[in-house]
Amino acid sequence: MAVVIVTKNKKKCNGCGACKQICPRQCISMEEDSEGFLYPQIDNKKCIHCNLCDKVCSELHPFSIQEPLICLAAKNNDTKIKLNSSSGGIFSALAEFTLSKGGIVFGARFDDNWGVVMDYIDTKDDLWKFRGSKYLKCDIGQTYLQAKSFLEKGLLVLYTGSSCQIAGLKRFLKIDYTNLIAVDYLCHGAPSPLLWKKYLNQIMHGNISKIKEISFRNKKRGWRNFSLIINSEQENIIDDIFSENAYMKAFLSDLSLRPSCYSCSARNGHASSDITIGDHWAINTINPEFDDDMGVSLILVNTIKGIEIFKQLNINSLKTDFQLSKKWNGAFYPQTEEHLHRKRFFKQLLNTNDVISLIEKELKISFWDHLVKHLFFFKH
Ligand SMILES: Cc1cc2nc3c(=O)[nH]c(=O)nc-3n(C[C@H](O)[C@H](O)[C@H](O)COP(=O)(O)OP(=O)(O)OC[C@H]3O[C@@H](n4cnc5c(N)ncnc54)[C@H](O)[C@@H]3O)c2cc1C
Repeated sequence: MAVVIVTKNKKKCNGCGACKQICPRQCISMEEDSEGFLYPQIDNKKCIHCNLCDKVCSELHPFSIQEPLICLAAKNNDTKIKLNSSSGGIFSALAEFTLSKGGIVFGARFDDNWGVVMDYIDTKDDLWKFRGSKYLKCDIGQTYLQAKSFLEKGLLVLYTGSSCQIAGLKRFLKIDYTNLIAVDYLCHGAPSPLLWKKYLNQIMHGNISKIKEISFRNKKRGWRNFSLIINSEQENIIDDIFSENAYMKAFLSDLSLRPSCYSCSARNGHASSDITIGDHWAINTINPEFDDDMGVSLILVNTIKGIEIFKQLNINSLKTDFQLSKKWNGAFYPQTEEHLHRKRFFKQLLNTNDVISLIEKELKISFWDHLVKHLFFFKH
């Protein structure tokens, strides 16, 4: 029986698209569902039941756990790069290292409509496109195939993405290429691209094309008090601390994430990556002298190859305690808990243009909600 993931449980599909890219008959397409997430659809008339799609599925075949060999706190030596990055700017250091060797860097950039797509670059001039987190699920496109083709030509390839995207890449490639640097970022979940599109439409009154700049992690109020900034050519449209912005509150309260994010099988060391990067939120309690509130990254080096690469990066780093470093970072929870109103929220999303009011309404948890949740908990 072919294609278990594709047709059944949405929680078991992270949307990596490895199945689509491996299909020898091109009979799988990625289609948007009513929540705005991409899922594979098969043209059964073309399917030859080779089962390759199931074989490359990282949800059906999760990787076993890797304990980090080294755990570090780190910052890019270039202050400007650090300030324009979400955490300590380690992605840029890895990308510069790869490009300096004539390699190729895969990462996520905005498209013409301010959606997010995975792409590749081969020059430092284009690096800014990937710098900075874009807090929505990105479309992988054909990038696993493209990465494979560069790897087979012998080029050094840096592929960065969420843990599920890296697990998908590794299952797709099958071979452990020595010229691949696989880097996942710590992730507690990715929000709906449909919500993002509707949010932009609301704040721009339909004129999304007028947007000039978006930063999800602007640090003018500090790394901890990061802000969402959206500018048009003429004016500043949004300048909100994350805790006061409706879109960011929905994301950080786990209201708007992809279903698979609530049962992720790739997080916490299951991505099969060489290096994992994220925010080192606990740094002020472990090594306060290293914390400049401009961004400190947590680096988990998972493989010997990762150690060799890390040694060559232009960064300032120090060893830090892994268990203590996990504090304050939701990506280390065993799972992200689905917001109580998620289903209700998405049922209404499709039919409203006032997503800001919808978010504010659905984020509120009443005493009754808590009671129902606990009754449900005790019954099961
Ligand atoms: C949806 C999402 C959730 C996250 N959750 C956490 C978390 O819970 N805890 C934590 O410590 N860190 C989390 N991160 C990672 C964190 O925000 C930083 O991206 C990471 O620490 C790298 O920062 P940097 O300063 O080294 O480089 P930056 O320049 O800030 O990193 C940019 C890197 O992120 C990639 N990227 C950006 N947006 C996307 C996207 N939508 N899809 C795929 N790749 C993308 C770029 O390609 C590039 O590789 C999350 C990131 C995303 C996109």
